[in-house]
Amino acid sequence: MSYARVLCIGLVGVEGHLVEVEADLSLGLPALVLTGLPDAALNEARDRVRAAIVNSGQRWPNRRITVNLLPATLPKQGSGFDLAIACALLAGAGELPLAPIQGVAVLGELGLDGTVRPVRGVLPMVAAAAAAGVTHVVVPQGNAREATMVPGLTVRSVDSLHRLVAFIRGEAELLDPPPDLPDPAITGPDLADIAGQDFGRYALEVAAAGGHHMSMLGPPGAGKTMLAERLPSILPELDDASALEVTALQSIAGVLPPDGRLIRRPPFQAPHHSASLAALIGGGSGIARPGALSLAHRGVLLLDEAPEFANATLQALRQPLESGRVILGRARGNTEYPARVQVVMAANPCPCANPAGDQYCQCSALARRRYLSKLSGPLLDRIDIQIKLRPVRAIELMTSSAPAEPSATVAARVAAARASAAARWSAHGWRLNAEVPGPELRRPPWRLAPKNTASLRTWLDRGSLSARGFDRILRLAWTVADLDGRDSPRGSDVDEAAQLRLGDAHDRQARS
Ligand SMILES: [Zn+2]
Repeated sequence: MSYARVLCIGLVGVEGHLVEVEADLSLGLPALVLTGLPDAALNEARDRVRAAIVNSGQRWPNRRITVNLLPATLPKQGSGFDLAIACALLAGAGELPLAPIQGVAVLGELGLDGTVRPVRGVLPMVAAAAAAGVTHVVVPQGNAREATMVPGLTVRSVDSLHRLVAFIRGEAELLDPPPDLPDPAITGPDLADIAGQDFGRYALEVAAAGGHHMSMLGPPGAGKTMLAERLPSILPELDDASALEVTALQSIAGVLPPDGRLIRRPPFQAPHHSASLAALIGGGSGIARPGALSLAHRGVLLLDEAPEFANATLQALRQPLESGRVILGRARGNTEYPARVQVVMAANPCPCANPAGDQYCQCSALARRRYLSKLSGPLLDRIDIQIKLRPVRAIELMTSSAPAEPSATVAARVAAARASAAARWSAHGWRLNAEVPGPELRRPPWRLAPKNTASLRTWLDRGSLSARGFDRILRLAWTVADLDGRDSPRGSDVDEAAQLRLGDAHDRQARS
């Protein structure tokens, strides 16, 4: 036999695709030719496969070898094809019977010594294979647990090419995936850890219930980061489809722990303000890595010290926030990753970030204005909740009698509020209040009675509230009402929403 074919899986964005690896050996000058749109890493497969075969004690066929990856139109990236290429090549040379791995998808990168190394993105690859009717897969040992997350699939793993070759010849066994570990207790940060800061806690609850983006302005010590870190703890668990998506993105990024399991909690990402655009949005060579934006998909993206981010970086976030996906331009076509995130921005009121706030701040009014102006514009426009926080005073910590409410209690209220919103909007295709376009809320049947929006209209007339701000407050008012179990917002809900939008400064102005 001088021809053989082995099944493998490629990855485009977050989607796996079955790939057939064919090898043909013919007479002629000894050479190894790879065809079928290989990228640079795949070209290097030539050298890896040759060394691995020789160092596994197999004979290298001294013939003209053509390896072709099908379908040719599919862009292929990464090093996961090595193992399938080696098998096809040895089988084509007549060294191996292929019957034992007929219809089995074989995945893995080869080291020069013949060891099989883990690859990124095994979860989405294996899930796609299962969806295409494949029932058996062979994956690197380091990816075995990840592959077992896909139901209805028999997973075997290998540590070396030598083992796979011996298995195919009936001389050795493949490795079983490691046994399931008991589910670990959920030990994320909890709202019970935060004393005082009632307004901040309430704003966080509204953000979770309505899916609203949120910004917090306050001096260091106000607990902005602590609050933001706890937003995932009051969001609902991910459903099956979302959990698979989120776990797959971590797998592609190569950040899934080897003992990992399906991720059920909404993820949290807090990129540093000095992070590169690639770290934030995604990129890199080979299979493009998802950035923090996609790793926060279905979860929370915290931009801490937001004015410190480069302008270009903040601008780059705009389009993905609008569309819910990131498109990375690549030499061989674009890669697309989902990025549906809830954004939390945190900022100090001035560049010196003096812990004592106003008291010791030497910054000029101009410096402060310039600092915060970076937060204005199109990005901030999308953020419904914009609050100001004061530092927690020692007296609040000492006198608070009741223990702070734990995340689980808040999460239950959030879930109930989300259910009410989903029931109300389901006919229109929205799930969360934050998804409802502003003009809709100003029209019947959702328009509120004039007496309930009296204060807002006064501010509009005075010019202290923009039309856009008006819409944002209406949206928030619906979430406030949902949390309190009311069918529609009343005047006090609108006032409460206004505080979440305008902070304390406006509140004062409104009272005066
Ligand atoms: Zn200052």
